Amino acid sequence: MIDIGVNLTHPSLLKELESNQFQWQENGVENIIAIASDLEESIQITQLSNQYKGIYHTLGCHPHHADSWQADSATKIKTLFQQSNKVVAIGETGLDFNRNYSTQVNQIKAFHDQIALSKTLSSPLYLHERDAEDSLLGILNEHFDKNVPGVLHCFTASKETLKRYLDIGLYIGITGWICDERRGQELQEAIKYIPKDRILMETDAPYLLPRDIRPRPKKNHPKFLPHIIKQAAFFAEIEESELIQLSIENTQRLFAIKGIGTH
Ligand SMILES: [Zn+2]
Repeated sequence: MIDIGVNLTHPSLLKELESNQFQWQENGVENIIAIASDLEESIQITQLSNQYKGIYHTLGCHPHHADSWQADSATKIKTLFQQSNKVVAIGETGLDFNRNYSTQVNQIKAFHDQIALSKTLSSPLYLHERDAEDSLLGILNEHFDKNVPGVLHCFTASKETLKRYLDIGLYIGITGWICDERRGQELQEAIKYIPKDRILMETDAPYLLPRDIRPRPKKNHPKFLPHIIKQAAFFAEIEESELIQLSIENTQRLFAIKGIGTH
C-alpha cells in the first residue's frame, strides 16, 4: 500500500525515522508521500526522502503558510526539485478560507505561483481546499493544464462538489474522514461516484485520526492506512483488495513513480 499524505516532520513521526524501523511498513504500507507545508519543511523532507527507503515527497507551500511565500520562493523550490530524485508533486497548495491563517490575497498569490511552477516542471499539483471551492475551481479553470494533472487531497465533501473536481481532471484523495459516522456522511455517500482510475488513499497523519479506531490512539499514523482502506472499500462498494490495487496503480500513474518500494 501507499499512503499519499503524511506530515512527516511531526515529532512523533521523526522519532520513528531515527529507529529506521517503520511501523507502517510492518503493517503493509511500503511507501509514503511526505507532504510539504512550507519552504523549510520542503528542505527537511527532501533530505529525509533521499535518506530513507520507501519515502517520496512534495515541495511547496500550504495555504496556511502563504504569508511566508516570497518573491524568490518559486526559484528556491525549483532548485530543490532539481536536486531530489524522489519529488512527486508541487504542494500542498490551494486555498483555505476556513481558518485563514494566511491572508486570502497571499494564499491566492502563492497558489498562482505554484500552478505556474507545476507547469514549468511538469509536476502534478497537490491541492488542499477548505471553504474555498468556487475560488479554487475558478483559478484552476483559468490556469490548470490537464496535461499536468493533480490531486485534491483530503476530499470531504458531497457528490456535487466531487463532480466539479472530477470534471476538471483531478484525482481524489480519501482520508480517515470516511470513518466518521457524523462528519463523514456526505463523503460516505460520494465515494461510490469516484471513478476507479481517480481514487487515492491517505492518512494525513498525525492529523485526522479515524474516529472508529479502538483502542483509541492519541494520534493518527500511516500504519492505520489499511483500516481507512477497509472502510473506504465498504462505502465504495468494492473489494478491499481491489481498492488497494487501484490506489497503487493510480498513485504510480499520477506521480510517475516507477517501481514502488525499490528506492
Ligand atoms: Zn491539506
